[in-house]
Amino acid sequence: MVLATNLGFPRIGLKRELKTALESFWSGKQTADDLQAAAKSLRARHWQLQKDAGIQHIPSNDFSFYDHVLDTILLTDAVPDAYRHGDDLHRYFSMARGHQADSCGHGHSHSHAHGSDTVALEMTKWFDTNYHYIVPVFSADQQFKLASTKAVDEFLEAKALGITTRPVILGPVSFLALGKRKDHGATLDLLPRLLPVYTELLSKLSSAGAEWVQIDEPVLVLDADPAVQEALRKTYSTLAGLPARPKILLATYFGSIQANVTVAFNLPVEAIHIDLVRAPEQLDIAIDAIAPKAILSLGVVDGRNIWRSDLDKALAQAAKAVRALGSDRVWVGPSCSLLHSPIDLAAETKLDDELKNWLAFATQKLTEIVVLTKAAAGDKSVIDGEAFAASRSAHASRTASKRIHNADVQSRLKSLTKESVERKSNYEARRTAQARHLALPGLPTTTIGSFPQTTEVRQKRADWRNGRLNNTSYDDFLKDQIRQTIAWQEQNGLDVLVHGEFERNDMVEYFGEQLEGFVFTSNGWVQSYGSRCVKPPIIFGDVSRKGPMTVRWSEYAQTLTRQPVKGMLTGPVTILQWSFVRDDQPRSATCRQIGLAIRDEVVDLEKAGISVIQIDEPAIREGLPLHHKDRASYLAWAVECFRLSAAGVRDQTQIHTHMCYSEFNDIIQAIADMDADVISIETARSQLELLDAFVTFKYPNEIGPGVYDIHSPRVPTVDEMKALIEQAATLLPIERLWINPDCGLKTRGWAETERALINMVAAARALREKFGLSQTKASVKAVA
Ligand code: GLN
Ligand code: ZN
Repeated sequence: MVLATNLGFPRIGLKRELKTALESFWSGKQTADDLQAAAKSLRARHWQLQKDAGIQHIPSNDFSFYDHVLDTILLTDAVPDAYRHGDDLHRYFSMARGHQADSCGHGHSHSHAHGSDTVALEMTKWFDTNYHYIVPVFSADQQFKLASTKAVDEFLEAKALGITTRPVILGPVSFLALGKRKDHGATLDLLPRLLPVYTELLSKLSSAGAEWVQIDEPVLVLDADPAVQEALRKTYSTLAGLPARPKILLATYFGSIQANVTVAFNLPVEAIHIDLVRAPEQLDIAIDAIAPKAILSLGVVDGRNIWRSDLDKALAQAAKAVRALGSDRVWVGPSCSLLHSPIDLAAETKLDDELKNWLAFATQKLTEIVVLTKAAAGDKSVIDGEAFAASRSAHASRTASKRIHNADVQSRLKSLTKESVERKSNYEARRTAQARHLALPGLPTTTIGSFPQTTEVRQKRADWRNGRLNNTSYDDFLKDQIRQTIAWQEQNGLDVLVHGEFERNDMVEYFGEQLEGFVFTSNGWVQSYGSRCVKPPIIFGDVSRKGPMTVRWSEYAQTLTRQPVKGMLTGPVTILQWSFVRDDQPRSATCRQIGLAIRDEVVDLEKAGISVIQIDEPAIREGLPLHHKDRASYLAWAVECFRLSAAGVRDQTQIHTHMCYSEFNDIIQAIADMDADVISIETARSQLELLDAFVTFKYPNEIGPGVYDIHSPRVPTVDEMKALIEQAATLLPIERLWINPDCGLKTRGWAETERALINMVAAARALREKFGLSQTKASVKAVA
């Protein structure tokens, strides 16, 4: 019989109960027992919900206090020495949490900050999602042992509730492949020592009564790597050979296993899961390649996006598999764990009915899976029933909706030409025009845009949103903040000033709320890392700008000073990347529309007298496809969208961009192709590594390598920053260097921000002196 299956459910809870429980535990307000009790009740609720929906293979051990890779570190005793004190929970959270963890304010930090006492393990993105995992660090002589009973305990916990689950574990090959070795050796070499942990775990699960286990090996969707393939063969022949073990479902997701198809389907496992949402074309390949008795688990409901399934389309895939393999060899499930979806659409009270009808969150996806399972099993009454009818009418309404299609946007896109993505002159000519217009000193100083978002700032915004503060009072408050911030920057010698971004909650939401084609959920939380959740906007239709979005704040700030004030915008790729994106047209098309909207804003800023405009693109790199062959085309459209947003201005207007990560080597050509006049980047923690990319490549334009790490409250000394700048100056022409922190200051307090910036300006001044560069104060009005 076709079975309804699920690969994982969100952990955080509909009301983010896990977040609350974790944060109260961390702050000492609640005990470990309280935390365990909260977790237990969430697990029970989620299992019951899946059972009630009719899911037949319900996952367990998909729950995690923080992250499933971190769970696996504990499971296998791969805990680095520095964290080997205290009880399990203490070890666990000390690996997870730095002294201080917030980064760019969007839950996308790439690693934890280095605090003074505990340094957290590094964190990085889980494949191409916005979920972050803790990176395991192994030593060359790493020993492993089975050190946690979590998987067994949670299986038994569900069993006690009358629910038989399928425990989920991260496969040994993916676990090693996602980790690092301190000595830079190959992590896969550690496999022989790791495997016994998994064999022991499987026999424990078997003794506990688990009939099936789900082993996740998402590395199977990456480009082929002989070492990985060999490790997979070794692992699964060992595991399959165990005398007593659960049957194995090998789960893959986030792409096609085509590059590894022969290996994958020759592994001696009882079932394989493939992602047919991201890679529908692999169905035929899988049907051809699957071993005679193995089960094919079909990921037909999108676990990564919020759109309601087209049931007919999904059924066509399932029916095809059933025809080829028979109904006993087909399961129906989500494309990947539902971890990446918000929990329940029913909790959305503010979305209008038409739009809501187009969506499905995790809870609704479970129902879709069950309906599809019945239909795939041949139940005619289901195919002719209500669920299918509703899916059809929702899709018809979405396709035809006037809210989605905007003729003006379409015709503007059609009229774009090659010139639309070109600045008027080349960089050298622009550099001359800008030098004349801005009259900047040597080594100009600036910041990345935001100044501290104090409790007061957040409180006023909340008051305003709740109607406790009227528009005029809120505006006055913001203006006051801007005035103080501009005055402070002027007095303390910064060259290109910013207004401080006090009016913004989040760098994507702020723009999304002002653009056509976006909607916002009130409760659509998705885990980003640990207790940190994000609520991505939904892009449902053609994007256009209703009117200026930032102009009045930048314009106001510019009236307060003769020095240039930098306009601050979020770039099209970042807005796309941090949203749920419509699935009825290519991502590139949606991105281009956003590019046009930002372009209009850029042009309006220029008209309002703003001479320097920064278009932040911190998410360009994370959009990079998993397969190498897809990267060039992604980078081509991503770069084009950025250029589209930037190219509407005169030569003398200086375009900046900002990126907050430091792995540029493989995309440096694309970064240069963006053709921003100035780029500021994160380098404070890895100066040499980064500059290496820019030096070898000979980056043509101006560059501001971050001279201090804003992720830590530590105030860097003048000498420290001078040393970094001097080092950069040995590698890059000094007249092309800018001096700035490595990211926005919104997560910092004023006290340390002031001291750090004062030191930064002092460092710049000292070096101008030393290198005989101009100290003149920049002034936009100096030249007509
Ligand atoms: N302009 C933004 C800020 O300063 C940039 C944030 C980011 O890089 N993520 O806050
Ligand atoms: Zn940044």
